[in-house]
Amino acid sequence: MIKMPIPCRRCGSADAEVYIPYARLSLCPECFRDFYVKRIKRTVEEFRMFRTDDRVGVAVSGGKDSTALLHGLKEAFPNMEFVALHVDLGIEGYSEECREKVEKLTEVLDVELEVYDLKEELGFTIDDFKRTIYRRKICSACGTVKRHIFEVLAGRVGVKVLATGHNLDDIVGVMLNNFFSGNWSQLVRLRPVLEPVEPNQTLKVKPLITTPEDENLLYCLYSDLPFREENCPHAHKERISRNREILEFLSKRNPNFRHQMLRNFLKLIPILEEAIEKPKYRRCRICGYPSSSDVCAFCRRVELVRKAKGMNIKTEKA
Ligand code: SF4
Repeated sequence: MIKMPIPCRRCGSADAEVYIPYARLSLCPECFRDFYVKRIKRTVEEFRMFRTDDRVGVAVSGGKDSTALLHGLKEAFPNMEFVALHVDLGIEGYSEECREKVEKLTEVLDVELEVYDLKEELGFTIDDFKRTIYRRKICSACGTVKRHIFEVLAGRVGVKVLATGHNLDDIVGVMLNNFFSGNWSQLVRLRPVLEPVEPNQTLKVKPLITTPEDENLLYCLYSDLPFREENCPHAHKERISRNREILEFLSKRNPNFRHQMLRNFLKLIPILEEAIEKPKYRRCRICGYPSSSDVCAFCRRVELVRKAKGMNIKTEKA
């Protein structure tokens, strides 16, 4: 039996290629791109992520999520100024391609790009954590390094808002992890807008918080965007696939599951914030950035990796 193409539910003229199960919509590529961009705009406006006269930094890794984010933001807010921020992590067989894709993307979009090269600026790469106690949890060290460096980059280019590519699946996955381990202080950090700890720090926003991961990939493909396809060699495949399996199973039974979970979680945040003790911040005595201890997590990791390499500590003062 020959399957007849279904017309797009929006325009009615082109053939539908994408089915959005939670919205029960069959869309053609053009209407899908429009649906995707409008959702970014709605999310930014609903959670008041930034004003249209703000200059916004966008953390770009070269992967599909941040690539789709930068392009989607440019489409949703064509008159705004965005600055792409990239950290070259120096991961062998991976970081070079990430940087190339980011350079190509920003060139195509005519967006300013600021790169922080870890090897050049600090003398080590993320691979060097293999020589430390972080060898089995490199992603944890890498996450701390990236969070700090994006603040440094934001300071260099003078942006007060930093948009990241966390998607709906990331947020719901981390939410599940933190919920089961009772990590309430990390749970509240998943909210769409994270206020700065100090006035000279950035406001962190997640414009893709309502966007499922697979739609970022589709958006990149339909928009013909350059993005890296290889996974980082340090990615923990087992943990990722376990979380994905749980989410996929529940989402198959209820296509709205992830969105419902996010909505209900957002209602819970103010209650959680009241209940948990707020961390007290001071200045890290090495780099001067806000820290809950005498030396911040970033400087502690830098110290470890540089010691392992027989180097001295050198970090940028806030
Ligand atoms: Fe860093 Fe881990 Fe991501 Fe690789 S997978 S870029 S090591 S956080």
